[in-house]
Amino acid sequence: MAAAEFDIPEIKDYIEVPKLREGAMAHAKTFLAPKPVQDFMGYPHELADNWKESALEKMGDLLGKYRSLKVFLDACVHCGACTDKCHYYLGTSDPKNMPVARQDLMRQVYRRYFTTAGKLFPKLVGAKDLTKDVLNDWYNYYHQCSECRRCSVFCPYGIDTAEITMAGREILNHIGMGQKYSNEILGKVQKIGNNLGLPGPALLDTLEGLEEDIEADTGVAVKLPIDVKGAEVLLVTPSADFFSEPHVESLIGYAKVFHAAGTSWTLSTHASEAGNFGLFNGNYETMRKVAMRIRDAALELGVKRIVVGECGHAWRVAYSFWNTLTGIGYGADDPFSIELQKQLDPNYPQPQHICELTNDLIKSGKIKVDPSKNDDLIVTYHDSCNVARASRMGTEPGGQFIIPRELIKSVVNNFHNMADDTIYESTFCCGGGGGLLTDDLMEVRVKGALPRVTALNNVVKEHQVNFMATICAICKAQFTKVLPKYGFEMSMVGGVHQLVAKAIILD
Ligand code: SF4
Ligand code: SF4
Repeated sequence: MAAAEFDIPEIKDYIEVPKLREGAMAHAKTFLAPKPVQDFMGYPHELADNWKESALEKMGDLLGKYRSLKVFLDACVHCGACTDKCHYYLGTSDPKNMPVARQDLMRQVYRRYFTTAGKLFPKLVGAKDLTKDVLNDWYNYYHQCSECRRCSVFCPYGIDTAEITMAGREILNHIGMGQKYSNEILGKVQKIGNNLGLPGPALLDTLEGLEEDIEADTGVAVKLPIDVKGAEVLLVTPSADFFSEPHVESLIGYAKVFHAAGTSWTLSTHASEAGNFGLFNGNYETMRKVAMRIRDAALELGVKRIVVGECGHAWRVAYSFWNTLTGIGYGADDPFSIELQKQLDPNYPQPQHICELTNDLIKSGKIKVDPSKNDDLIVTYHDSCNVARASRMGTEPGGQFIIPRELIKSVVNNFHNMADDTIYESTFCCGGGGGLLTDDLMEVRVKGALPRVTALNNVVKEHQVNFMATICAICKAQFTKVLPKYGFEMSMVGGVHQLVAKAIILD
């Protein structure tokens, strides 16, 4: 990649609230989706003459469908508690990256066209006409929000900017301003089965190559099975796990866990992707279609359990949405959902996170580990936003924070948390989530990573941490790209199952 054409922020000892720089990121516009991509998604690819009426009609539709959206647009009292909570504001100084200002981009239009006061006295209530300038601001700044929900943790009313961002993107798509990166991926996952567009034979080749590597390395014939009917577990994992570093190390870890536990498992070519970008572009019907592949695969293969690999937003969709969207677990009541609910084993959570599965196996002594194998590492843990603030793991409140840490501490001897106000539910986004993991948003990504990098730098200085584990494919991809810009080795980020893979004892 060409040298960055922007200044890399300086890492300070603490996270500093920056002075405002109006319009600092107004130039950061992600590429628009071209016609073939929009055609496949069923959206127009350019603004029509009646774009304004169409946008307002869609907005009215969303306000009618999602009560939360209307409440969030009505409830803000501009208290300011969220202003300094967004990593994109902290990293870019652009006031429109303050959560309340990001919300106001839509709130002003909502007031103008959907409230009596806004229709009669627009200036008095801060209402604004929907113009092309406003639309451009929507496009730019709703693609500088990773839907991480950190701001909502600090809002006294629980206003969730992520939902407003999702609605903004849905309206933009509806009038022909879709984002190339997310919509291209949504096309690939629906046509081919995964976000990378990796066809079945290539996948098979990759898995066979990995089996050979593992056997050469350990002397044990660990398998990575695919499309095996009658396997107990269907593992659904982000497609990055199949080919890129460091992701693939975690895939090896999952395979070793299943091998050591003697559990039959399979991947699926039809559902060779856990990620679901339907969450990012705010369209629940798209999210449902993408999720349906997993139900189809589970029914087709006759599995008893569905386990999700290391992917933050995939786990959010699985944990929070699969039940009503697809009937995995419980919820939907169409004949296929009912069949699946009868098929799945009620003794296990459906779906289950791979960290919970591995942690249970270690705690119950069913698999053995030797943490000294990771003694070259001093480890910290980055809580991924979608796991931390939008899901749970296990049966206890806070399990999504506790289980990954318990698992890490079982397989390493040296672990240190980052500062309290940057972990657990206050975790900072990696800077690349929510459909922003694209090179055309590199400046946003690098600057948005500043708060996390600051906390990492402190734990490196204090405890000589040399490895940051995480359970999100987007976080891994983002950090391997942006950490070197701040002077860190890209190899210092990796998965929790990368650590498991090293420590596990294979008979
Ligand atoms: S990126 Fe996160 S903190 Fe910033 S506005 Fe969006 S949801 Fe809020
Ligand atoms: S914290 Fe909540 S109420 Fe206060 S300004 Fe932010 S969104 Fe509005």
